[in-house]
Amino acid sequence: MIMSTGTVALFGGAGFIGSHLTERLLEEGYHLVVVDIDSEKIEDLLSHNRIDFHELDIRQDDAGTVTSVVESADVVFDLIAYANPKQYVDMPLEVVHLNYDQNLRLVEDCVETDTRLIQFSTSEVYGKIGNRKGDDEVFSEDGSDLIMGPVENHRWIYATAKQLLERMVHAHGLENDLDWTIIRPFNFIGREMDYLIEEPDAGTPRVFASFISALLYDHPMYLVDGGENERAFTHISDAVEAMVYILEEAERYNREVVNIGTPGNETSIHDFAHLMRDIYADRSPDGDLPPIENVSGEEFYGAGYEDCERRIPDATKLTDAGWEPQYDLRETLEEAMSYYLEKYERAEAPSLD
Ligand code: UDP
Repeated sequence: MIMSTGTVALFGGAGFIGSHLTERLLEEGYHLVVVDIDSEKIEDLLSHNRIDFHELDIRQDDAGTVTSVVESADVVFDLIAYANPKQYVDMPLEVVHLNYDQNLRLVEDCVETDTRLIQFSTSEVYGKIGNRKGDDEVFSEDGSDLIMGPVENHRWIYATAKQLLERMVHAHGLENDLDWTIIRPFNFIGREMDYLIEEPDAGTPRVFASFISALLYDHPMYLVDGGENERAFTHISDAVEAMVYILEEAERYNREVVNIGTPGNETSIHDFAHLMRDIYADRSPDGDLPPIENVSGEEFYGAGYEDCERRIPDATKLTDAGWEPQYDLRETLEEAMSYYLEKYERAEAPSLD
């Protein structure tokens, strides 16, 4: 393993992706400065002597912390975003404010201080290319069109904000010599993802967290629009490995948009639900399985929801560099589910006191 000495700033370094990346970069020997609204997911890492943590909402940065953290870093990862479909439907203006206005400020700080930026975007920027019937097009960073839905389906405000941010990052590279890489993540799953819901109406986390909640707390697993839509899921460890490649191969990935995803792990949400049930049943043969119920996207998320039917990444920018995902879909789910099942069993176990 190469021990690295640079300083990496992670904005949003305590979220789902960020917490896994923070842990890995500490192992790799980097000095880290993490900025996040909440430290819960990295609490056990904060005593490490190579991590500085700033608890901060970048929207209320009166002391200029964002700029000074950027100045202190060799590389900035920007992971700050509202990235949950329910959020785009419920509060589209705040989604744009955080995901575009605030992120752009960070981009500009990187330009001012001549700091390399690794900007997280989203696979949603591709929009609806997978919705063309019979379309097997893999989503290619430099070849695919980015197709948004109508304005009244305001799910797309998220993808549009992220797309404009990408275009601004690109433009700063052209006009102001910014060194950048844009990452488009494809449905990462793993431990500490989103949040669990004890009751079905207690929130709308992404699909893995939603289904594991249903299994643990025995409420229905909702299949939106029959679960016909397809996604390619990536284990968070494979995703983080790809991020390390991108960080360490600065030249190869400079001014490149890079998909991180596992094309071989494509499944319909219907099959995904059944695979999770099978794994759960193997593990807890005496446990009851919750019912499966079909709901429409509008019922589940609210008016203005529109889905992407299919989302298959072209991962060749990573595989050409030697990256290879280690987890197939079953292994991804087994590993992620066992974490939650063990945690749940511990919580349920009678106290010995
Ligand atoms: N979905 C579902 N049941 C749930 C949560 C999500 O059927 O409880 C569907 C959702 O409509 C979408 C897919 O699962 O088709 C993936 O949704 P997720 O929120 O994980 O993220 P997305 O890939 O849409 O950004």
